[in-house]
Amino acid sequence: IVQWTPFFQTYKKQRYPWVQLAGHQGNFKAGPDQGTILKKLCAKEEKCFKILMKDVLRPYVPEFKGVIASEDKDCSYIQLQDLLGDFTSPCVMDCKIGVRTYLEEELAKAKEKPKLRKDMYEKMCQIDQNAPSDEEHKMKGVTKPRYMVWRETISSTATLGFRIEGIRNADGTSSKDFKTTKTKDQIIGAFEKFTEGFPHAIVIGSSLLFVHDRYNANVWLIDFAKTIVLSENMKINHSSKWKVGNHEDGYLIGVNNLIKIFMTMLEH
Ligand code: ATP
Ligand code: MG
Ligand code: MG
Repeated sequence: IVQWTPFFQTYKKQRYPWVQLAGHQGNFKAGPDQGTILKKLCAKEEKCFKILMKDVLRPYVPEFKGVIASEDKDCSYIQLQDLLGDFTSPCVMDCKIGVRTYLEEELAKAKEKPKLRKDMYEKMCQIDQNAPSDEEHKMKGVTKPRYMVWRETISSTATLGFRIEGIRNADGTSSKDFKTTKTKDQIIGAFEKFTEGFPHAIVIGSSLLFVHDRYNANVWLIDFAKTIVLSENMKINHSSKWKVGNHEDGYLIGVNNLIKIFMTMLEH
């Protein structure tokens, strides 16, 4: 069961159901201060927010209000500005940016002792019977790194550098069912529904969380749980092709494709 509203939020004396479009249920709850939410602490993300609060990108990310510590390390949270606070019945869309959604470290780890995984083979077959090779069909298994790379090709991640994670539409309907939304036409279809009846809301920005209602529209960068500082000898430009080991993330490929798609929609 998809749960869209893990809790009710109160802000400026208004009570509204909060919307969560990605991530695990239970990762979020209402914050102790008005207009804030709590997200389960992840050391990488905390570090990234601390840097972002002193960066030129600060206005485009949720405000970081520190860590709510707890005895039990697994239960600590970061306190963030609730981006939905200034909206009334907002439409919300989460687009995950980049040509891959795992760290190179995670791929390297998966490659250490690659076992044949039957569960991953079955997941692959469920989506596309023709995805496994003859060899893999014979073994009824695929390795984890093979599965990780393949999984990014069933959505628009590998080709367009972003994918839709979830949308709460203007008509109140919601969906997280975008795992195989891959072509430009499929994406335009989803974007059109998201902006239906709100022609002023076609906003473009270098971001992930799109929020609009009858009066406002905005875009923010969110989710830095996998954002890390590159070692000093490593340079990336966010738009070159990713090859294993070069650490390119395709962030700008995704952002540029998003801009192009919204521009196409404006012309029609
Ligand atoms: P995943 O890694 O699976 O994407 P996650 O647990 O890291 O998930 P996020 O992606 O940060 O979580 O957030 C999940 C959802 O929660 C977003 O799609 C969005 O709907 C909502 N959300 C996150 N941060 C905020 C915020 N500051 N204000 C309002 N909504 C937010
Ligand atoms: Mg996310
Ligand atoms: Mg995350």
